[in-house]
Amino acid sequence: MQVLKFGGSSVGTIDAISKVIAIVKARVQKTPTIVVVSAMSGITDQLILLVQTASQGNEGYKMIIQSLAEKHEDAVRALLPASQQSATLNIAQQLIQEIESHCEGLYLKNELSLQIQDQLMSYGEILSSKIIAAAFEAEGVDQVWLDSRAMIKTNSSYSSAVVDRALTNQTIQAYFTNPTNQHALYMAPGFIASNAAGHTTTLGRGGSDYTAAIYAAALTVSILEIWTDVSGMMTADPRIVPHAKAIPKISYHEAMELSHFGAKIIYPPTIQPVMQAHIPIWIKNTFEPEHPGTLIEIASPKDDHFIRGISSIQDICLLSLEGAGMVGIPGFTKRLFDALAKKQISIILITQSSSEHSISVGVSMQDTHLAKIAVDAEFEEEINSQLLEPLIIEKELAIIALVGEQMRNHPGVSGKMFTVLGANGINIRAIAQGSSEKNITAVIEAHDVHKAMNLLHEAFFESTHKQVNVFIAGVGNVGSKLIEQIKLQAANLQSTLRLQINIVGIANSKKHLINLKGIDLSNSNNLTDSNNTHSSHAHDWSDQLAEASSGTIQDYVAAILDHNLPNSIFVDVTANAAVADTYAQLLSKGISVVACNKIACSSPYAHYANLKSLAQNHHAAFLFETNVGAGLPIVSTLNDLIRSGDTIKKIEAVLSGTLNFVFNHYEGGKDGKTFARVVKQAQDEGYTEPDPRLDLGGTDVMRKILILAREAGHPLEMEDIMNESFLPASCFNGSVADFYNELEKQEPHFKQLYDAAATAGCKLKFIAKFESEANEKMNGMAIVKVGLQHIQPSSDFFHLYGKDNLVLFYTNRYPELPLVIKGAGAGADVTASGVFADIIRAARA
Ligand code: ADP
Ligand code: ASP
Ligand code: MG
Repeated sequence: MQVLKFGGSSVGTIDAISKVIAIVKARVQKTPTIVVVSAMSGITDQLILLVQTASQGNEGYKMIIQSLAEKHEDAVRALLPASQQSATLNIAQQLIQEIESHCEGLYLKNELSLQIQDQLMSYGEILSSKIIAAAFEAEGVDQVWLDSRAMIKTNSSYSSAVVDRALTNQTIQAYFTNPTNQHALYMAPGFIASNAAGHTTTLGRGGSDYTAAIYAAALTVSILEIWTDVSGMMTADPRIVPHAKAIPKISYHEAMELSHFGAKIIYPPTIQPVMQAHIPIWIKNTFEPEHPGTLIEIASPKDDHFIRGISSIQDICLLSLEGAGMVGIPGFTKRLFDALAKKQISIILITQSSSEHSISVGVSMQDTHLAKIAVDAEFEEEINSQLLEPLIIEKELAIIALVGEQMRNHPGVSGKMFTVLGANGINIRAIAQGSSEKNITAVIEAHDVHKAMNLLHEAFFESTHKQVNVFIAGVGNVGSKLIEQIKLQAANLQSTLRLQINIVGIANSKKHLINLKGIDLSNSNNLTDSNNTHSSHAHDWSDQLAEASSGTIQDYVAAILDHNLPNSIFVDVTANAAVADTYAQLLSKGISVVACNKIACSSPYAHYANLKSLAQNHHAAFLFETNVGAGLPIVSTLNDLIRSGDTIKKIEAVLSGTLNFVFNHYEGGKDGKTFARVVKQAQDEGYTEPDPRLDLGGTDVMRKILILAREAGHPLEMEDIMNESFLPASCFNGSVADFYNELEKQEPHFKQLYDAAATAGCKLKFIAKFESEANEKMNGMAIVKVGLQHIQPSSDFFHLYGKDNLVLFYTNRYPELPLVIKGAGAGADVTASGVFADIIRAARA
């Protein structure tokens, strides 16, 4: 004898049922077979809704019956040849009529009992099993329909009846040993049973697995096969963790723990009867029958997987009993458990502090109200005399569990679990570890489940793979280049660093696009490429963004926080203050921030310091390499020097590509190239801020040297920087157009600056300088200044062309000859690559 169980999704469509028939047909010749089936998928839920609707006096129940009738009659028509349909259609219609007459009663009486609900739910399995039985007949496979209600005997706990195993075994064995009952194929409905009075009962949601196990154990078959819609028991629920993998072999105990903690693939009570009889369970995929699936048997395989799987249960609440009255007095725990048991509330998890000052239990959310009444009533006296607090309830929680029999031999599992969760800002409300050390469970906020499961899966099963979720704000020149670079480099990062960089969000100032699976970049438009038109790339990201929902940057950030994805990185490639204002919110949720935007780091010191400490406290990265010198490794080099114990004594730098360009091109007005024209040229070529005064006035350079000074450990403000501006005060008045007019008027001033330098054989360069040496006038504070200087040919700064930057670090280790960093300090491509490098750094942190 063999027992094969097919679940709801395996009998949910005509196509699926055909696959079931093919699988069984190939097997039935060799050994007598019991096939247990569930209701077609969704039908049990529909029946429950039907019962509720009818019993509330709502006529809408008739529509539900109609849809039930259609679904089953359609199945009959599709599965059976026309000539053989009528008998089965009659059966289906008769069953539907029975449902109808029950519902009429419910509708008129406006009352509902679990008994009648069980009665009605049973039709799901009866209908499916009768129809599939007819389909076998039509295929020439003889079968006999086996009424599970007559075989499986239970108590009267309707909706989750307890099976009388001894009586049930006797009944099943008596039936099968009777010579008149010998057949090749038995078709049995799962889920349903009956009590001593002969009333229909059900075995609890998902109970068809249990039905099959009961038949298998009673007949001591050699194996129980559970056919479902996934290729075995997996390392996690594949709907939550897309990278979950099938587990080839697992022990009964591990499978039991996983299912107890939410792995729906197998109904928890299923394992007990077959485990007692040493019958292995084989989980197989109806839709991929050649896949080996999962074998559940006695021993846990001796491999190096000390964590076999992870699972989760949503909709949990934590009940805590606290108070001095609990200490040292026996019996409290028992009274708590008894009070819950009397109300049939099952406890999923227990934790007790060793001081015995409190005990917490996790129960299903739907039991909260009942539990509160029951427990407060039980401890009324103690609560009144203030020995105990009234029961404390925390809602909207979830349980996550790590399961593996070998974990007891591997120290550090819980440490790793808590580190991974903590590093991603996931708060743990309670923890419990079974004394047999087969599981570690933690209670977390329901909102964090998806993130926690993916992180734990990554940590315990994918040591070779890390998925990073990137949210980009800003799609100007730099943002577009960045997306292009990530797209081109993605495969390489996956193979060399095992990093999967998913761009899940893209936003501009008006709209944002979020796709949790990763935005399709396949036809990504390079916005700076003028040959590329939108119409030729109908579905690239910029078109998707144009069609996306409108919203401010705050809306974007709210959505990011709400999605709560693991390993999230927010990338600010704007120059916008409102975007910079969101960093604190993000960092305090453990989301890393990579900023090209300089505003946050050059804002008041307290704000900058707060962002840095938020990042540290929430284990998030806060990186801004491109704040200074675009893609040049300036900030990271400075950080490396300091972290390795060096001290920055002095920094001298040309940090403005714009100013460098202007002074490289201005030759005292030669050939009519006035200073104003050179500035205009710089602006036209895209090297200046929209208002060039930010560059020419020195603000941009001040921000950059301030950031370097701060990173070197000096708590300075913008006001502490001396700016020896070369721009006459009159240039700061009015609009940008006014500014250009004024520049023209001031040409003699600029010519004089130029001539003075040229006469001395020097070039003009705008230099930023930081000196940490104690200075009496400054009360020991570091000196930071920016200004135009005459540069001698012997200086490092003399031969600095185009928009290059140059930074000289004088440190303890580089006292005389500085550490030099030189190269392009502006440009979309190099800036994007600096941002990209920060993203990779944040991802690997
Ligand atoms: P059936 O209808 O065959 O009884 P179920 O829906 O009850 O199927 O169970 C199969 C589903 O269980 C899978 O589709 C999957 O989404 C879910 N599931 C949850 N945890 C796991 C896990 N660890 N391994 C495999 N599937 C799981
Ligand atoms: N049809 C029942 C349910 O949906 C039993 C099962 O599918 O196993 O819960
Ligand atoms: Mg199931």
